[in-house]
Amino acid sequence: MAEGKECPVKVAVRSRPLSVKEEHDGATRCLEFIEDKSQVVVALEKGFTFDYTFDDETTQETVYKKCVAHLVDMVLQGYNATVLAYGQTGSGKTYTMGTDYHYSNQLTETDIQGIIPRALIDIFKKIKDMPDAECLVKISFIEIYNEEVYDLLSTVRQRKSVHIQKQNSSVVVLGLEELKVNSVEVALSCLKKGCETRTKGATALNANSSRSHAIFTVHVEQLLVDGYKKKSKLHLVDLAGSEMVRKTKSEGDRFKEGVNINLGLLALGNVINILCTEGGRKQQNYIPYRNSTLTRFLKDSICGNSLTVMIACINPADSNLVETVDTLRYANRARNIKTKPVINRC
Ligand code: ADP
Repeated sequence: MAEGKECPVKVAVRSRPLSVKEEHDGATRCLEFIEDKSQVVVALEKGFTFDYTFDDETTQETVYKKCVAHLVDMVLQGYNATVLAYGQTGSGKTYTMGTDYHYSNQLTETDIQGIIPRALIDIFKKIKDMPDAECLVKISFIEIYNEEVYDLLSTVRQRKSVHIQKQNSSVVVLGLEELKVNSVEVALSCLKKGCETRTKGATALNANSSRSHAIFTVHVEQLLVDGYKKKSKLHLVDLAGSEMVRKTKSEGDRFKEGVNINLGLLALGNVINILCTEGGRKQQNYIPYRNSTLTRFLKDSICGNSLTVMIACINPADSNLVETVDTLRYANRARNIKTKPVINRC
């Protein structure tokens, strides 16, 4: 890949199978996948084309190999990369990303294993085969809930102060744990611990983890033989349920929680809407990243120095048609976004 060249955000769509309950309730599938055209057709009418389409029989391994494995290679070459899972609650974001703590630390590649554990296994395997570079891997895991940032790797679910850097308005989380990990086992146990903290935190608040955004980051630092360092990051993001946006719009600002959670998704939608037009991209200074903690965090992933893949997760049931079409429209716009990845040498 040529460094500094514009690179479109790649978008995948993945449908989960109908659940037993949906089948029992008489729901029918409203999606048809046309594999050779990379298309999904909704209710026999509206067709959407994506970079990758995964029907309800696609395995976790296939999703990883097609959408993520090349990003891991690029991260080890010194580029930043991001994988974002978007979709309504219950559409398969957790399953796809592998942020369910029951399964997150399994070392063997069972089919249930999602993207994050697979990426960790892959990274450590590949590092072993890189004789020239000394590699340091660190992990951080945060949750954005109500516009606040929580560190999921500290012993208790802790709110962190966010510092905004003046020069580029990017976010620095003060005191955030970046745990050095020297084996895949330790990395997987961090993932499990963070997922558990997230679930317990949500239970304590009588909420649901689908109301927060979870960002698992693998930081890779390579000391090269010529004395240079390469620093790169892989952000793996499980976004809050997209139906929250609709709820906020219909409920106005009655609930602080609703508003703040959705603020992130609304702001992300606004940024995507601007970035997906040629004119919008030229107005870099006016892109409203600052409107939410999520968009500040993802600024590089959606516009700057990152290779990015968005996975739009959808529910196949006809009863969810409206949300599904919303998700597909959102994801379709994201295909017009371009980033400019460069190797981070220092
Ligand atoms: P979300 O994170 O979007 O709220 P989940 O990942 O929790 O949704 O998925 C909802 C349910 O569907 C879970 O029981 C999950 O195991 C199941 N599921 C999701 N995607 C798939 C899939 N591709 N294959 C089989 N089961 C799936």
